[in-house]
Amino acid sequence: TAMRVAVVGAGVSGLAATKCCLDEGLEPVCFERSQDIGGLWRYTEHIEAGRPSLYPSVISNTSKEMSAFSDFPFPEHFPVFLPNALLLDYLRRFAERFGLREHISFGTTVVSIRKHPEFATTGQWSVVTETGGKQTSHVFDAVMVCSGNFSEPFLPLQSFPGMERFRGQYFHSRQYKNPDMFQGKRVLVVGMGNSGVDIAVEASRVAAKVTISTTRGAWLLSRVFERGYPWDMILNTRFMTLIKTSLPAPLSWWLINYKANQWFNHENYGLQPDKRYFLVPLLNDDLPSYILTGRITIKPGVKEFKDNSVLFHNCPEEEPIDIVVFSTGYIISFPFLEESVVRVENKHASLYKYVFPTHLQKPTLAVLGLIRPFGAIMPVAEMQARWVSRVFKGRGANMSLPFLQALLTPIFLLPLFLLRFGLTFDEVLKTEWLVYLDTLASFIGAKPSVLGLLFTDPWLALTIFFGPCSPYQFRLGGPGHWLGARQAILTQWDRVLKPTRTRVPVGSSSPFPSLLIVVGFLLLLAAVIFGF
Ligand code: FAD
Repeated sequence: TAMRVAVVGAGVSGLAATKCCLDEGLEPVCFERSQDIGGLWRYTEHIEAGRPSLYPSVISNTSKEMSAFSDFPFPEHFPVFLPNALLLDYLRRFAERFGLREHISFGTTVVSIRKHPEFATTGQWSVVTETGGKQTSHVFDAVMVCSGNFSEPFLPLQSFPGMERFRGQYFHSRQYKNPDMFQGKRVLVVGMGNSGVDIAVEASRVAAKVTISTTRGAWLLSRVFERGYPWDMILNTRFMTLIKTSLPAPLSWWLINYKANQWFNHENYGLQPDKRYFLVPLLNDDLPSYILTGRITIKPGVKEFKDNSVLFHNCPEEEPIDIVVFSTGYIISFPFLEESVVRVENKHASLYKYVFPTHLQKPTLAVLGLIRPFGAIMPVAEMQARWVSRVFKGRGANMSLPFLQALLTPIFLLPLFLLRFGLTFDEVLKTEWLVYLDTLASFIGAKPSVLGLLFTDPWLALTIFFGPCSPYQFRLGGPGHWLGARQAILTQWDRVLKPTRTRVPVGSSSPFPSLLIVVGFLLLLAAVIFGF
């Protein structure tokens, strides 16, 4: 009989997990505590249901070509960056296309996952779910945890001296619903992540004054990158990644710094990050202009709160404040897992490639979507799901002894922040998006060979190397390869231009390089290669 796999959650990761299990002939049962798929992207429904929203901005930070599942491109007419409703629409189409819904049990919460008494021999798990107050026990052969990691706010009030006497209002960014509450108020946003900046921008449209406090500073990128192309289609290429990863650290710091400062000089805007920190850039299209027009002021870290004001480090004068928004991030937690599954030692949890707990005798439990490198999460979660479902099935190339040994040695230690499986993102984020994808792809034999292609399909090879690393690249070969992959790669820019090139002046040139340029380029390349 087919292996039965419990999937916890039906967000992006859970949908990918369910689909990849089906692809491998496993039998997934997906448990989703809410009434529908989509997780974070079902944002409006959260608002309608009167629940706190997770995020003010409803537009994706990653472009549609880079955020697609690898065998299911976004519709051509969808905008390049997606309002959450369209991303949700895409996820619904995906679920429809691959018949995922019938494998999902809605309104069902996973309350506990424990090792089955026979775990040492069978690798099975005892799973308890709750539907409408009624609990049910199940036994599964394997588990994929896809419960997301934006649920438990991290609010370190004790690290802000004087907080107990502050008489204004304060809350974590997760509690933010809409900007009405900021009307005419003096607002302070503490912490500079994507959500903090988004809230500050929204607040500044109605507030009397908005200040962002940041200790570390940040590099800021716009979705609209060089020459108006989406940032991730320019930066997340094999070519760029090769340059970034071959440079020594200081040079690569300089390169990011140089790129980031082309839009505006970060030092002049009070944003320049400290060299000590490795930072993942933020995405916001508006902040620089809001700083330039005086609607938002950037300040250093908070030194102390007073009754109605705040003191910043290295700033003598107090700043009067009415509302504080703590955009201090989230704790990752898996309340349904016993501690021995994701074992915590010295504030570290060890997960091989951020997926498999390293100390289990059997690799039958995996955590998906935990790592968030600088790039779209959909292809990452999907690649993890492809790898995991093959490991579960015992067919993965890496079920060999070295792999199992690797699982038993903690290779990757996730730094922990608080007790109870609390991890913070900072360290986890350092992994290069493309390198991580390639690593997992090579485990299952789905990593494209640029060199090999250069001889059989040179145009495709060049597009793969110099062009954006769109997820279709990982469906060109190997298990689960998709016949449409080549075409999807060669038409990726068409789908990007389609929604914006809506007025083409008569006689305008084609957006694509002429044959002459292509031939010239190929000749140049050949000259370089044979020159060696
Ligand atoms: P979630 O979307 O959180 O889904 C988890 C699901 O699990 C939920 O449906 C939840 O109800 C369910 N669940 C949880 N616990 C249980 C339980 N015990 N039992 C049953 N069900 C359970 N990523 C990008 O790639 N591009 C972007 O532009 C982008 N923008 C973002 C903007 C914001 C504001 C945030 C917060 C994140 C953004 N992300 C973006 C990252 C985002 O996390 C991923 O795109 C993706 O939504 C992660 O999906 P997930 O399935 O891992 O988690």
